[in-house]
Amino acid sequence: MSITANEVTKLYGHQRALHEVSFSISKGEVVGFLGPNGAGKSTMMKIITCYIPPTSGSVSVCGFDVREQSIDARKCIGYLPEHNPLYTDMYVREYLTFVAKIYKLKNAAKRVEEMIDMVGLGVEAHKKIEALSKGYRQRVGIAQSMIHDPKVLILDEPTSGLDPNQLAEIRDLIIRIGKEKTVMLSTHIMQEVEAICDRAIIISKGLIVADSPTSELSHLTATGSYEITVEFSDHINPATIQNLIGVSSIVATGKNCWTIKTNTSRDIRKDIADLATSQGLSILTLTKKEQKLEDIFKELTTSRASSTAE
Ligand code: ADP
Ligand code: MG
Repeated sequence: MSITANEVTKLYGHQRALHEVSFSISKGEVVGFLGPNGAGKSTMMKIITCYIPPTSGSVSVCGFDVREQSIDARKCIGYLPEHNPLYTDMYVREYLTFVAKIYKLKNAAKRVEEMIDMVGLGVEAHKKIEALSKGYRQRVGIAQSMIHDPKVLILDEPTSGLDPNQLAEIRDLIIRIGKEKTVMLSTHIMQEVEAICDRAIIISKGLIVADSPTSELSHLTATGSYEITVEFSDHINPATIQNLIGVSSIVATGKNCWTIKTNTSRDIRKDIADLATSQGLSILTLTKKEQKLEDIFKELTTSRASSTAE
């Protein structure tokens, strides 16, 4: 295992930021740590990277306990903190050389050039960090985190605050890096996880509410419920729709238009068509909206988290 967290709890004074959080991440996985602001993502990442200790529980990285063997653990970890603190009055090369020296790397100059090349900083590398766009600053941060060739990369909100082009570039860079390394990245954006990660660990209010391969996230909700929008050619008695098996709620959304929520994964469109026929109506439009990852995220981080918290 690259990262193992075992019942990690973190209290800040009386405030509980993490509550018995457990997960493990295998070598080579790219895992999205997904949750709304304040969920506990950065706290967990600071514990993994040996910046703060857990109140209870344990974490190991590449087999090294982050408390007992923090020097060995740190060697395995590259970390891009949230807000990417950089020495902005340093030049890119100067800064990366400075970091390389902290790690006492041999061939520091060569390694700095390799990193500049790897993260695509070439044309900007002669500049002061303060002169760089946010996207290029993130590249410096990623180069900094990888300079000692760690096995595990912890990236805290690596794409926040980037414009769409920068975002796509940084995502591509992370996808490339993910082919070689174990990566855990935090984000509050669902599409990010879909675009980059093999797996999502969803956290809300300090509790893990889901841990699943990205491809299986849509199966997570208990019912697989979905939404149908239908427009009939004429008036219909709403009770006849409500009475269909699998309908949980209906809302009028326009003239002869209804939005129907189901509590089943069974496709009820045929039932709706049969109903229309039996009433002598035609169906003008009928669309089925699958539950999106966002909806699942919302559901998992509101209902389930609040029912299990406290
Ligand atoms: P996220 O990164 O998911 O937004 P954080 O881990 O930063 O969440 O924060 C989790 C909770 O812990 C939040 O409620 C936050 O206010 C609180 N918190 C974080 N750092 C501290 C701190 N140093 N002192 C007190 N409370 C903190
Ligand atoms: Mg954070």
